[in-house]
Amino acid sequence: MTHMHVAGSIHADTIAPGPQWLRLPEDVNALLPALWSATVERGPDGVLAVGGLPVTDIAARCGTPVYVLDEVDFHQRARGFVEAFAGWDVYYAGKSFLTTAVAGWAVADGLFVDCSTGGELTVALRGGVPGERIGLHGNNKSEAEIAMALDAGVGRIIVDSFDEIRRIGRLAADRDVRARVMVRVTTGVEAHTHEYIATAHEDQKFGFSIASGQAKEALRACEADPHLDLIGIHSHIGSQIFETYGFEVAARRIMMLHAEVAREFDRELPEMDLGGGFGIAYTSLDQPETPERLAAALRAIVEEQAHDLSVQVPRMSIEPGRAIVGPTTMALYRVGTVKQVVLDGGATRTYISVDGGMSDNIRPALYGAEYSATLAGRASSAGAVLSRIVGKHCEGGDILVRDEFMPADIAPGDLVAVPGSGAYSRAMASNYNMVPRPPVVAVRDGVLHTLVRRETIDDLLALDLGYDPVP
Ligand SMILES: *Cc1c(COP(=O)(O)O)cnc(C)c1O
Repeated sequence: MTHMHVAGSIHADTIAPGPQWLRLPEDVNALLPALWSATVERGPDGVLAVGGLPVTDIAARCGTPVYVLDEVDFHQRARGFVEAFAGWDVYYAGKSFLTTAVAGWAVADGLFVDCSTGGELTVALRGGVPGERIGLHGNNKSEAEIAMALDAGVGRIIVDSFDEIRRIGRLAADRDVRARVMVRVTTGVEAHTHEYIATAHEDQKFGFSIASGQAKEALRACEADPHLDLIGIHSHIGSQIFETYGFEVAARRIMMLHAEVAREFDRELPEMDLGGGFGIAYTSLDQPETPERLAAALRAIVEEQAHDLSVQVPRMSIEPGRAIVGPTTMALYRVGTVKQVVLDGGATRTYISVDGGMSDNIRPALYGAEYSATLAGRASSAGAVLSRIVGKHCEGGDILVRDEFMPADIAPGDLVAVPGSGAYSRAMASNYNMVPRPPVVAVRDGVLHTLVRRETIDDLLALDLGYDPVP
């Protein structure tokens, strides 16, 4: 297999075939613009730069692995949504990635912020998000979380069960306030990536189903409680969705419910939320909608339905997380080992092990998410070989990039960049194998700021109390 290392040669017959969508690149150094944040470019020296800073410099100063967020790109995407959806409220789904600085940017860019726990709520408040610009989600909010939300005066709590409706009512009564609530419904549309699953009964934990009548029961329960101010219906159909079709079906169904309850309650609920889930490009296969096209499609369907049902268009909102922060960030790893693995039939696959893995990005292991990668610290004139980029953890499923063409001369010490790493990567990170979690740094005009510092083994050991008696 030594021929695999010959610079410039491609022995396609001996390389394991990749998935059909993965094309052998003409130039292994080329960057597909759709995958990378706004300021990323490969300099004349072959080194990738973001915000005017070479990644070699960032790696030298911050170590690896490191998540590098392109600040200009974040603001462009955030404002892009706010402008495309002018007149609608855009809630940034904080669970995708939230720090106090990010919360502050969200406010500055005109976003509202969604939180799913007391922890996220604390970060948003600490980052300067006014309570009235926050929505609180979750299918099992604790009393403490609801109390925190009420005390912060959050703009909306999205209710998800009858238990919770009673709980919020009671906590609001204790405080002598009216809690602004939305009812999360399931529309029978569930969408994930390229697949739509339309089910008659919704066998999942979120929301009240429209089909069973529970959605209407929940709306009635909220309407009947004097300490709840029912402001509207909420629907979130899934994640990493590319076609607007699923949103259109969901919007139709909740507009119909909205019109039915308007007749029954003798008032039109003032708001409605269509959720998030807008897809981004992780690989060349993904072709996301622009916010403009999404906005046009959603506006058209809501306006048409309002007209047909003889109701006003409520104040509308959406909740993008991934589509705002996902493409802003690259993960930067350093290669530790390169191994040729011979497959059945004699073809080989190059396994590139990097210094992170499933502890900083669980998505490929959790649900088979696909990513792309490029050699980042230099350009290469070697040919492309089908490669798999794997982590350092003790799991066979510890894969970061399942299939990618990487230069045949990739070697220990090289830097590898993985685009589209801003959402649900660092946010879902763990300490598996006692690996400290990587930092997130933001770069703009050649200046680096730390958003989250690197964890240390001392941070982890601080949790280890030896054998401490519980009082
Ligand atoms: C996760 C989630 C979102 C955001 O999803 P993205 O795929 O990041 O856009 C929005 N709304 C709700 C209710 C969610 O659970």
